[in-house]
Amino acid sequence: MPYRVRENLFIGNIGDAAEVLQNGSSEITHILSILSSASISIFSEWRSGLTIPTKEIKKVYVGASEVEDDSASDDDTVDLSSSAMSPGKILYALEYAGKDLKAVRMAVPMRDMESENLLDHLDVCLSFIDESRKKGSVLVHCFAGVSRSAAIITAYLMRSEHLSQEDALESLRQSCEFVCPNDGFLDQLKLFEEMGFKVDRSNSIYKRFRLKVLGESYNRGERIDSSKLGADPGLPTEVSSEVEAPSDAGNNSRSAYRCKKCRRVVALQSNVVDHIPGEGETSFDWHKRKSGNPFNKSEETECSSIFVEPLQWMTAVEEGALEGKLSCAHCEARLGYFNWSGIQCSCGSWITPAFQLHKSRVDISSV
Ligand SMILES: [Zn+2]
Ligand SMILES: [Zn+2]
Repeated sequence: MPYRVRENLFIGNIGDAAEVLQNGSSEITHILSILSSASISIFSEWRSGLTIPTKEIKKVYVGASEVEDDSASDDDTVDLSSSAMSPGKILYALEYAGKDLKAVRMAVPMRDMESENLLDHLDVCLSFIDESRKKGSVLVHCFAGVSRSAAIITAYLMRSEHLSQEDALESLRQSCEFVCPNDGFLDQLKLFEEMGFKVDRSNSIYKRFRLKVLGESYNRGERIDSSKLGADPGLPTEVSSEVEAPSDAGNNSRSAYRCKKCRRVVALQSNVVDHIPGEGETSFDWHKRKSGNPFNKSEETECSSIFVEPLQWMTAVEEGALEGKLSCAHCEARLGYFNWSGIQCSCGSWITPAFQLHKSRVDISSV
């Protein structure tokens, strides 16, 4: 039996969803399936002999469109080019499903693993829940009804009722006491709270998350090719599109870092991944230094480098090494260093993974 969380909002497991799809429901009209695959065949793998009819509404992929047969409309891809998800991955499938094709099912492929990317799925999931509750009742389910579905509903309660991660989860536990999102999901829900209940891809919090996902992907031995690197801000096309754009209020975000020697643009302000000077994994060391030199704090914490997301001109990164030099793509001047296991900034902070440009090798100017 699904558990009622709010009016028109239920949480359950795969058995609850199968029951609604097989026999119909007088109450539930919409289903959000968070399972390892978006395919309905996952139900027949779960219980052999169980066949659920479906009629596709649409499939939406992440990033650049690979032209699909008859329905190559813009709706079929979602521009998450600055997201931490790999392009070409299915973001979600929408279909009519179950008895008399009466239910609307959105299927979002996600595994119950700490390293799974919850944040990039939140926008579509939360909008679907919102829309479904206006038209009927929605069941959010995963396999066990414990981790994935609970994480999505926790995010939904956080956003719709402006609750902290802890309060939202506690509130969900009032309806269903055994819910328990995995620790990776809980961390991401904390980031969602820090970003003000939205997934803002220009936020430093999101950029650090994106970098962490990329670092984990490197550590798993996956190849980091140019599709996973940020666009090169020094390429002519990029520059001209920047120039065409009217100068708006966001002056700061329009500034660029140039190679001191040849003036090539090597990073935009928007590529910079900020860190808080002196904080992070070596805060202990920093406290030691700080107490040893209490009058010189501001000088001590001055950063001699900026850290950026990996960009397409950093060809050394694509070669797969753990660490290496970053040289200017035009004049080959040494600009900095990268290291997937991290680099310590002069302020004491560890940045992991790190793509570092020495401030002494670059100039900041407006684009
Ligand atoms: Zn620093
Ligand atoms: Zn240069």
